[in-house]
Amino acid sequence: ALNAENELLKDLNEPQKEAVLHGDGPLLVLSGAGSGKTRVITRRVAHLVQVRGVYPWRILAVTFTNKAAREMRERLVQLLGPQAHELVVSTFHSSSSMILRRVLRDPTVGADKSLEAVTGGLTPSFVIYDDGDQLQLVKRAMREVRVDPIMQPREILHRIDQEKNAARLPDDMVVDSEDLRGMVVQKTYRAYQRLLRAANAVDFGDLLLLLVALFRKRSDVLEQYRRRFQHILVDEFQDTNPVQYELLRLLAPPERRPNLVVVGDDDQSIYRWRGASVDNILGFPEEYVGARVVKLEQNYRSDQTILDAAHAVIARNTRRMPKKLWSDRPKGEHLQLLMNRDERAEAQDVARRIHELQREGFIKYSGMAVFYRTNAQSRVLEEALRLARVPYTLVSGRSFYDRAEVRDAAAYLRLMVNPRSDADLLRIINTPARGIGDTTVERLVDWAQQAGVSLYEATAAPERIPGLNTAAVRRLTGFHAVVSSLHAFAQESKDAASAVDQMLKESHLVESLVTEGSDESLSRAENLREFLGAAQEFDLNRAAAAVAAASLGDEEGEEVPERPPEEESLDDSPLTADVPPLNAFLEQISLVGEADAEVGEGRVALMTLHAAKGLEFDAVFITGMEDGVFPHSRALASEDPDGEEMAEERRLCYVGFTRARKRLFISLAQCRSLFGELRYNPPSRFLREVPQSLFGFAEQELETPVPKSAPMVARKRNWADEDDGPRVDRSYSQTSDMDGVGGDVRGMRVRHEQFGMGRIVSADGNGPNAKVTVEFGGGVGLKRVIARFLMPG
Ligand code: ATP
Ligand code: MG
Repeated sequence: ALNAENELLKDLNEPQKEAVLHGDGPLLVLSGAGSGKTRVITRRVAHLVQVRGVYPWRILAVTFTNKAAREMRERLVQLLGPQAHELVVSTFHSSSSMILRRVLRDPTVGADKSLEAVTGGLTPSFVIYDDGDQLQLVKRAMREVRVDPIMQPREILHRIDQEKNAARLPDDMVVDSEDLRGMVVQKTYRAYQRLLRAANAVDFGDLLLLLVALFRKRSDVLEQYRRRFQHILVDEFQDTNPVQYELLRLLAPPERRPNLVVVGDDDQSIYRWRGASVDNILGFPEEYVGARVVKLEQNYRSDQTILDAAHAVIARNTRRMPKKLWSDRPKGEHLQLLMNRDERAEAQDVARRIHELQREGFIKYSGMAVFYRTNAQSRVLEEALRLARVPYTLVSGRSFYDRAEVRDAAAYLRLMVNPRSDADLLRIINTPARGIGDTTVERLVDWAQQAGVSLYEATAAPERIPGLNTAAVRRLTGFHAVVSSLHAFAQESKDAASAVDQMLKESHLVESLVTEGSDESLSRAENLREFLGAAQEFDLNRAAAAVAAASLGDEEGEEVPERPPEEESLDDSPLTADVPPLNAFLEQISLVGEADAEVGEGRVALMTLHAAKGLEFDAVFITGMEDGVFPHSRALASEDPDGEEMAEERRLCYVGFTRARKRLFISLAQCRSLFGELRYNPPSRFLREVPQSLFGFAEQELETPVPKSAPMVARKRNWADEDDGPRVDRSYSQTSDMDGVGGDVRGMRVRHEQFGMGRIVSADGNGPNAKVTVEFGGGVGLKRVIARFLMPG
């Protein structure tokens, strides 16, 4: 164990060690970007298991995105081996969803009438509705309760989400009798919840809200989970909203001095619009009295110049925890400013720079990212990258699952496990076309509503529905047969892929697209095959995890944790143990969120600034640095332009800057069409707050804060003032051996970070910037590279 401990601690600094070794009781790690907070969480989990002997299933680690959870799991598998699969490492939503299903499977919960108001007949196979489904449901709810049409469905939905984020069910809303809009929201919210329950469905907000409500009513059930999760660790704590915090408080009540470790950075709180509040992190020491507070001050991610820029921007926020952040990395390159005529020129410029960085052989495509404030900016960037043949991934995980045909397939699957889901049934009742027209559907819906049954049940005997002709009755009967056969299949299926395969066959989804035969429909058919591929991959992963778990303790010398007798009663089977595979697959796809797409190997990542949280890249481009784009026009227009909204934009800027390790490019356009409107925006105030010297401009050279000149040319770093630093700079200083390029270096053996070993064929010019042609081995062949990226081989 001592060895293991040394191994886990060896590359941590003192305060990081303190946090990893912290014994029992609450702990807050509060610090700036890139200071190793996430690393602390990962190491602490490993330490708990490996050194302190905590059972992995007793640990719950919560991250902000599925992508972050996946990365952390991978890391933990490296550190702990197969036992890591028994940890619960996931987002708030997916862990709540697992726990909620499990609680609902508890027979005493099912039988408890007092929970009716909360669960309303929800079963463990509930489906999760997304944004689009939610909006449909709000519209239906508005029709049912016939509220005054003084509000748009979107607005009502937003208000409902806010209530849920604040942990309030309709009855918990306090509405003044003068407040007409509040009353509309409350009425619609109530009907909306009823419709969700009737469909055996929940929305994202419900996952947390219902669990909180259940725990509040059933302290015996809550107690099981309090005992189960002996250690809870939360990353990005600054972005928890009240319902998430409430769940944490229930599982880890302050008065018990629980082992709750939260890490975060108040300066990176960027989800206020989703109800998150910085007060959670700032108030933690008061809520959890006696909590230990650890501050990390050394940044390991970014060169000093980048940190200076980030600091210059964030320092203007008034309400923040004072923090020092230093780095012993070198100053690094200057920031680079890209100024262009319009958004197209901007996109081309970015593409060209990306090409250059890659060609210099130093930064790989996968080490680069382009950020933007709003999704709408991505289209032009994508076009330019495609033209320039730069491989990229658009990081908005939903896009695949948002395609119409994929949503159809998902709707079929959800009906398979849960035929009561009316929204899904309505989506596919006539997809592919089966001659079931709108009038038939309307009559079906009316009748079902009067009879108080689900649409699926109503299609069982359509002859009861008035006004339908025999053809309509026959078609509904045929449709019912398809769904009921699929439902039966789902009950039996042992994996997700066979269920998807069966669904694609019986529904004729693929067949109808292939018959249609257009390019468009054929590519849609391909997407459905890809969907089947996703299910296969899911099955494989699940099988691998099961094998890993089963082989635990097989290896010689590996200890199988003995469980003490007093714990016998505790159910600690994996949270997902008896979830049928198809349900688990559906769960996974409904929880895919923005920012979850895999950043492809060897590809530049394109994403919104919000999605960039927690990530890091060698080179970062921030586009659209103009007032009105970033900061967003909303913050400029708000009554108090220096108020909370601007502070949040500023934090977002800080998040963006601090993603960069070595190179930060800041880009703006003189005019831009966005949202179909041509605008001339002044340079962003954030840009103007960055000291000019960080761009390599002498202060007095400039009258205007931002140079009017054309895009700045890359300024090569001065060879003489290299200082030693980690990784990057080591290779720089080693290359100084190559300074003599130009003499007879032909035949010399060299090494290149990306291309490997090779021999110099010829050299062009002198010094570190000489262009050298090298014959590389390993099938790479002849390449022209810059001398300073070569090391003596
Ligand atoms: P953010 O605020 O952006 O979420 P963070 O505080 O979570 O950042 P990490 O992502 O954990 O920071 O770490 C930033 C980088 O620094 C990572 O590449 C990490 O591997 C590295 N790092 C962290 N601690 C150390 C250390 N003690 N020695 C060397 N590298 C470290
Ligand atoms: Mg982090």
